[in-house]
Amino acid sequence: MDERFLHTIDGRGEGSERFFAVNNPATEEIFAHCPDASPEQLDRAIAAARRAFAGWSRLTFADRREALHRFADSIRARTDEIAHVLVREQGKPLAEALDEVTRSAGLLEAMCKDEPPVTTLSGTPRHVMLGYKPMGVVGAITPWNVPLLLAARKIAHALFAGNTVVLKPSPLTPLSTLMLGLASREALPAGVFNVLAGGNDLGRWITEHEDIDRIAFTGSVATGKAILASAAPTLKRVTLELGGNDPAIVLDDADLDEAAAGIFRGAFLNAGQICMAVKRVYAPSAIYEPLVQRLTDIANRQKVGDGFEEGVDMGPLQNRTQFDKVMGLIEETRSDPRARITTGGHRLNRSGYFIAPTIVAEAEDDMRVVREEQFGPILPVLRYDDLDDAVRRANQTKYGLCGSVWSSNVERAETVADRIEAGTVWVNFHLGSLPFAPFGGFKQSGIGREFGDIGLLSYMEPQVINRPL
Ligand code: NAD
Repeated sequence: MDERFLHTIDGRGEGSERFFAVNNPATEEIFAHCPDASPEQLDRAIAAARRAFAGWSRLTFADRREALHRFADSIRARTDEIAHVLVREQGKPLAEALDEVTRSAGLLEAMCKDEPPVTTLSGTPRHVMLGYKPMGVVGAITPWNVPLLLAARKIAHALFAGNTVVLKPSPLTPLSTLMLGLASREALPAGVFNVLAGGNDLGRWITEHEDIDRIAFTGSVATGKAILASAAPTLKRVTLELGGNDPAIVLDDADLDEAAAGIFRGAFLNAGQICMAVKRVYAPSAIYEPLVQRLTDIANRQKVGDGFEEGVDMGPLQNRTQFDKVMGLIEETRSDPRARITTGGHRLNRSGYFIAPTIVAEAEDDMRVVREEQFGPILPVLRYDDLDDAVRRANQTKYGLCGSVWSSNVERAETVADRIEAGTVWVNFHLGSLPFAPFGGFKQSGIGREFGDIGLLSYMEPQVINRPL
């Protein structure tokens, strides 16, 4: 048993009776076995978190901040080792994995600066104070695309607010998150932060558990709906960060080189497996061909390969299901006589779930590659002749996570951005979130926000103390 890959329960490493295999998507080979937590282990982790809550919630914000800084340092001390595991289980290039570890540690500090306010409410004959209290035990559930960063943004605010945490990573990428647990053991009091690996059942046991107070979830829309339903009987507080189908609208005055470079990065980072990636581009006919040409040229320059290979830009898809889904979209697009695949459109001739970066020109609104979240290295580019019509089409989706507008006139772009129905709209940029800017989705892209003061307060209950003057 690899001592790095253990659950963290009540401050100690623990294996399980059962294990499941973890694959390397670049080789399609099993490279590790991960302990599979039992219901009894989950019960013990939640009980430990509940016990630890009593002391942790009474600490000052300054004390908790200090502990989270220790946790960040402990992660940083293992950056290389965690990043190597992340490349093997997730597939991303080593430079991106190193960046993910470093930024995850950084979030534990950056998100814990400002304490929630205590305010005196006026206009009353009594003295009324509004403050905020931690909720209790948070169950955090994460997906396989950016496992560490998505965990860190939950842990940081949940713990800083005074809650304790039970975290469950995706069974497809559990190992790097188990190593976060390992790093926490020397930094945090026992029971404050627990990590358990397991399958979807473990997720369901968490969301149904009587003694979990709050669910923080990132993943697919379908799972988000199931979680909301299973949290209802116990009225758990829930935040859901779900899928997206982000539009990028290019205006006729955009700098084409900059727009193409920014859109390409925004669409293909992590092989397109990012909730807030560009998933559709709307370009005016006047600049349509030069934009498609530039995107195609950039795609042709990408080095796709194993994350450990020198100079690699893009890794494989993370798993077989996702690979099959994207290949299915490619085949359907190829058989549509309207669409033109300008580059890519095939898997690489080697083992591993590699797909060449694919640009689809003359894409239309009704095509599945446009309507659905592809979550892979394929980008449809649509034409428009009327900007109002482009905005209408961009908004014609059940999703509303992010979007972007590209123009050399930022004020003009901002007026278009204002009309996009999404939680975040960038101008001349796409991808990336800031610890102080609330992030989340409109419509079926989610409920609630992470980051910023809204994110921190979502881990707390408002409490009014009302006394005579
Ligand atoms: P998923 O929903 O299949 O799984 C996510 C997590 O939920 C995993 O840990 C899984 O084990 C767990 N789970 C599955 N069924 C469950 C259930 N019934 N109850 C409780 N937990 C359950 O998602 P995925 O395929 O791992 O991730 C890809 C999706 O995540 C994409 O749709 C992507 O857009 C979305 N995503 C969203 C964001 C965001 O911030 N909005 C970020 C990254 C990914």
